[in-house]
Amino acid sequence: MTTRDALQSRLEQGIAALGLQLPADAVPRLLDYQALLERWNAAYNLTAVRDPAQMVTRHMLDSLAILPYVQGQTLADLGTGPGLPGIVLAIAAPGREILLVDSNGKKVRFLREAIRTLKLDGVRAVQSRAEDVQGQFDCITARAFASLADMLGWGGHLLAPDGVWLAMKGKSVEEELPGVPPGFELRERHVLHVPGLDAERQLLVLRRT
Ligand code: SAH
Repeated sequence: MTTRDALQSRLEQGIAALGLQLPADAVPRLLDYQALLERWNAAYNLTAVRDPAQMVTRHMLDSLAILPYVQGQTLADLGTGPGLPGIVLAIAAPGREILLVDSNGKKVRFLREAIRTLKLDGVRAVQSRAEDVQGQFDCITARAFASLADMLGWGGHLLAPDGVWLAMKGKSVEEELPGVPPGFELRERHVLHVPGLDAERQLLVLRRT
C-alpha cells in the first residue's frame, strides 16, 4: 500500500521539480481526485495505470507539465478520458471555464462525479464526439487523443481565432506533422521533462494560420 503521505511527497517533489507554484489547496485536491480515480478505476477501468505512485507521475505530473503553456479564459479538453489533463489543470489553476469532452459514457459519468465531489467550479463535462461540440475556446488540450490530423480535423472548429492548441504527445510525432490540416500550423515544440518519468514527452503548440 502506498500511503497518502507517500503520494503527497511524490506529488510535492514533482511540482517543485517542474518549477510550479500552485494554490495552497491544490495538492490535497489533486490527491482527492486521484483517490476518486483509483476507487472508480477498480470497477470502471478508466485508466490502465493502476499503481498509485505511477498515477502521480504519469497522470498528475504529466498533466501539470503543460500548465505554463495554458492560457486564456476558456479551455476545452478533448478526449479527456477520466479528466486528463483537464481536471488536473482545473485544480492547479482554477478560475477558467473548462469543458471536458469525451465520447465514452462511463468516463463522463466519472467526470460528473468528480466535478460534483471535488466542487470544481466552472468545469463541465459533456458526452460527445469532439466533432459535434460547438463553441470556441482560447485553449484546447488533448493528451493521447488522436493523430494531429484527426484531432484538428475533428475539433479544429473549436479553436478561437487567437487560441492555442496544446497537443501532448509521446515521441515519434515527426510523421504526423505533414497531416496538420490547412488553416493550422505548428508554432512551438517543447520537450517536457516529467519528474520520475523516463519516456519522452512532447508538447506541440499549434495555432490558426
Ligand atoms: N486524455 C486521456 C484519455 C486518452 S484515451 C488521457 O490522457 O489519459 C482517448 C479518449 O478519447 C478516450 O477516453 C475516448 O473515449 C475518447 N475519444 C475517442 N474518440 C473521440 C472523439 N471523436 N470525441 C471525443 N472523445 C473521443
